[in-house]
Amino acid sequence: MDFNPVDSPVKYVKGVGPTREKYLNLLGIYTIRDLLFYPPRKYIDSSLIKSIAQAKKGEEVTIIGEVVDAFVKRTRRMKIGTVVVYDGTGTISAKWFNQDWVVKYFKKGETVSMSGKISIFGFEKQIISPEYEKLEREDYQFIHTGRIVPVYRINKFLTQRSFRRYMKNAIERYVDGVEEYLRDGERDRLNLIGLREALKKLHFPEKKEDVDIAVKRLAFDELFFVELFLRLQKIDAQRKKGIAFNTSSYLAEKLLHSLPFKLTDEQLRVIDEIKGDMAKPLPMQRLLQGDVGSGKTIVALIASLICIENGYNVGFMVPTEVLAFQHHRVISGFLKDIGVGVYLISGGMKNSDKERILETISRKPSIVVGTHALIQEGMRIPKMGLAIIDEQHRFGVLQRKKLITQGESPDVLFLTATPIPRTLALAVYGDLDVSTIRKLPPGRIPPKTRWVNEKKREKVYQFVRDKISDGELAYIVLPVIEENPGSELKAVKTIYKELKNTYFKDIPIEMLYGGMKSEEKDRIMNEFREGRIKALVCTTVIEVGVDVPDANIMVIENAERFGLSQLHQLRGRIGRGGKKSYCILITPENITEDAGKRLRAMEEYTDGFKLSEVDLKIRGPGEFFGTRQHGFSDFVFFDIFRDSYLIEPVKRFVDEVVSKKDFERFIKGMDRISKRGDLIEVG
Ligand code: ADP
Ligand code: MG
Repeated sequence: MDFNPVDSPVKYVKGVGPTREKYLNLLGIYTIRDLLFYPPRKYIDSSLIKSIAQAKKGEEVTIIGEVVDAFVKRTRRMKIGTVVVYDGTGTISAKWFNQDWVVKYFKKGETVSMSGKISIFGFEKQIISPEYEKLEREDYQFIHTGRIVPVYRINKFLTQRSFRRYMKNAIERYVDGVEEYLRDGERDRLNLIGLREALKKLHFPEKKEDVDIAVKRLAFDELFFVELFLRLQKIDAQRKKGIAFNTSSYLAEKLLHSLPFKLTDEQLRVIDEIKGDMAKPLPMQRLLQGDVGSGKTIVALIASLICIENGYNVGFMVPTEVLAFQHHRVISGFLKDIGVGVYLISGGMKNSDKERILETISRKPSIVVGTHALIQEGMRIPKMGLAIIDEQHRFGVLQRKKLITQGESPDVLFLTATPIPRTLALAVYGDLDVSTIRKLPPGRIPPKTRWVNEKKREKVYQFVRDKISDGELAYIVLPVIEENPGSELKAVKTIYKELKNTYFKDIPIEMLYGGMKSEEKDRIMNEFREGRIKALVCTTVIEVGVDVPDANIMVIENAERFGLSQLHQLRGRIGRGGKKSYCILITPENITEDAGKRLRAMEEYTDGFKLSEVDLKIRGPGEFFGTRQHGFSDFVFFDIFRDSYLIEPVKRFVDEVVSKKDFERFIKGMDRISKRGDLIEVG
């Protein structure tokens, strides 16, 4: 096959080279294609060019003029660099603080362009830390100013200026090598622009609408490849033979009788749906949806027992180690009188231990709980009849193929607590049958939620301390583990210390975060569950699925930093034991309007479906490429809310190419997208 230069290492882009290539690698950019498809995080509109005389205070504009002076002043506290620009109507001073090297870049007499916000100081017009560039020739093409300028997610080794420069060079030299695989007629019919044009417009839009039509094309492609991939998988799976389970199960009956509660009608209904699938000689592909705390685990256990009674093993996969430990414990608890083995396989385990477990279960059907360690290379659960994938949204749509393709075709049950409207569910889970638990078990009292200013922190922690003295347990959630210079974010380690030295002096508290050793995490979770530890100061490691019925208090610091669905997931950790529960969201004084709306929605609603609707409204247009926070991490361009209008046309187009068997030309593109599933880190 011909080698396409677009697939060469990114170091070959003019200006990059081997050193900066490494910095780009850190962003996941390895090839020139990766660079071309790297999305801007947002855009700054500096396309409004004004004369200095007309530019008013507070306006975001671009000024073009000649440098008449450039100097650095040293005060005791800092160095102030000034570049004075004249354009025939007036002068303006561009200023930089402690960045005197910027000033050295300019020489008197040069024509320059500056973009930023106009301010007035005394009688002087100023523009503070503007974007800038020199306009060397008449036909100069703006990169950093005078246009709609993209801003990228980069790291500390790169600057926006250098990154834009690489992008410009890559577009100029390589974009024509990007393959177009839609025919002209198809593009017209679907109302899409060409792929190359889309990439140009994405990075160098001339007007706002350019971004929209570029994103439309890129989002279409992405969704199309994923849907086509899933569709072909499904066709493939249907050709395979599944196991026709006998679904009348003695073990399941026994479990139901041993439970301290009765299953709800909702749970019984979805169990029937699952049984229907299991009885068929086709591999089940079902998604079980239900809000946090709706009781999906027990449903999955009933299915597991049916599987085991038929002589097959069950693989139960969860996204984090904390959750693996918890599920192992919870399931062992449920099954203690049933006589079914429950084993835990974790990433850090010795190979010999893993093999011993595999050996045991090859003789006696059991449940194996684990993280993605379960589907790692070389791991193979013998005679697996049912695979359960909990908190599916965390895994990404494409990662499931790994599990499904192992062994003979097992039934697969996906569990998810990310409530999304049905049409959207169909887009992301297009190939799955969907069951939904619509109501929580009775007796739950919705948590009371309050959003407070950080000035009230003292009061908040006094309240928490009082509640703990009354026997409650508390989560204190923070956005980061360690404090960062230059960032205001509260961190696990600092808050832990602070609490330990003040309000919580004589109260046993612990920290919990992702980087800790598994055994340590497990020990802490256990002691917390048993009430020996009263409060956990933690990151979002507890976000998914953690179930400690006696924990009824949650404080979330810097709550403005979390997305709405994430806040909902976090809050889902409390109020699980039928007692009153409290969630307190702390934020600094100044937060964005959208963050305020999210927090108010949290105060008002507890229903996940309602919250995801509100989220959709708040986000609206203007926020690009934000799907990740919803957990659908396969998508870079397609945003499940913003772009839902693409779902229908994509499906129809998939139908068309599948029925005509006309998908050869899409295989490469599909391959590239499906590989992403392998790269996603879980937990
Ligand atoms: P999720 O759907 O979020 O995974 P879980 O399966 O963890 O929820 O269930 C949440 C809690 O509700 C667990 O403690 C579970 O034992 C309990 N539970 C499940 N079903 C019922 C029921 N029908 N009645 C009362 N409690 C239930
Ligand atoms: Mg769960």
